[in-house]
Amino acid sequence: MAKNELNCANIQKNIPKFINRQMKDDEIMAFTEHVRNCPECYEELSIEYLIVVDMNKLDDVDGFNLDNELNRLIDKSRERVENRKRMFGLKVFLAFVLTMFAAYVIAYLIFW
Ligand SMILES: [Zn+2]
Repeated sequence: MAKNELNCANIQKNIPKFINRQMKDDEIMAFTEHVRNCPECYEELSIEYLIVVDMNKLDDVDGFNLDNELNRLIDKSRERVENRKRMFGLKVFLAFVLTMFAAYVIAYLIFW
């Protein structure tokens, strides 16, 4: 369990980084994966999130649901990472197509 404890300590140390959106994509994926499967770290995250969360939302006590807010934050964070990855793949693909096209045009101009 020592390894797992170390992992939890690391995760909990990085909670402010997650809340302040200063994590790298792979860190976000590892972090969100962990808190979803670790009640202890999720609890810790919800406590720290509650401290920094927008005070306007807290005024509306009936409308504020910490679990909903947290899950939305986790989902959105993962979504952003996945979107970035998709965009990156698209860019690589477009760069490839453009390169092929340019090569074709150059070859056409040279050999025609
Ligand atoms: Zn944990």
